[in-house]
Amino acid sequence: MANLTVPINVRHVRAFTDNYIWLIESPSAPDRLVAVDPGDAAPVLEELRRSASSLAAILLTHHHPDHIGGVAGLLEHGAVPVIGPDDARIALRTQTVGGGERCKLADLGLAFDILAVPGHTLSHIAFWGHDALFSGDTLFSAGCGRMFEGTPLQMNASLDRLRALPPQTRLFCGHEYTAANLRFALAVEPDNAAALEHRGVVERLRAGGMPSLPSRLALELRINPFLRCDDPKISAAASAHVGTALDGPAAVFGALRAWKDSFQ
Ligand SMILES: [Zn+2]
Repeated sequence: MANLTVPINVRHVRAFTDNYIWLIESPSAPDRLVAVDPGDAAPVLEELRRSASSLAAILLTHHHPDHIGGVAGLLEHGAVPVIGPDDARIALRTQTVGGGERCKLADLGLAFDILAVPGHTLSHIAFWGHDALFSGDTLFSAGCGRMFEGTPLQMNASLDRLRALPPQTRLFCGHEYTAANLRFALAVEPDNAAALEHRGVVERLRAGGMPSLPSRLALELRINPFLRCDDPKISAAASAHVGTALDGPAAVFGALRAWKDSFQ
């Protein structure tokens, strides 16, 4: 029986310029791995060979090619469940999961609650379990994904859903964007002490070739402006940037997202 409170080990492999493919070790058999968002098969296959492990399942958060492009190549080495959201653009999916459901991988001792998080794409989902959140391109450390398909109201509600998770939750997102996100976060809130301190931590990690991830939700609640669109300080900064009063958190989110899109 999968116990959501059992901690999990998660490895990373890199893909393309800044993608992470997360490899979750089964608590009952650490050489059986679950790949999250394998945009490229090659680095996953290399890690499977290096560690004499096998692939047990694939989890997909959304349809973008840099998150699903490696699925076909991985399936050439053996059929495994491919679990993702209801979206025709994910052709190789074998199991569909939606918001409010629990995705159980009983033989691996794993289970994840599915959260619907529309905004970056309309069918985007996140996987939460074992104090870990796999947020794809919805929530990044110190930032969030671009709003390609949803509205500010939808995406802000999605981020509200994620910020309500337990603060000890470890955040595993799809890209290494933390340093650039912190530059923007500090443009919004120049005196945010937690963001200033974390900038130093990230600089040291990145200089040593280490990922800045996983982050923790408790930290994100302090450094990530997109998780605090109801905070008067964030609202005031976004309003000052657009030069007009903003009515409510969704409007603040929309202004903040547009500001980030044009931020150098
Ligand atoms: Zn994406």
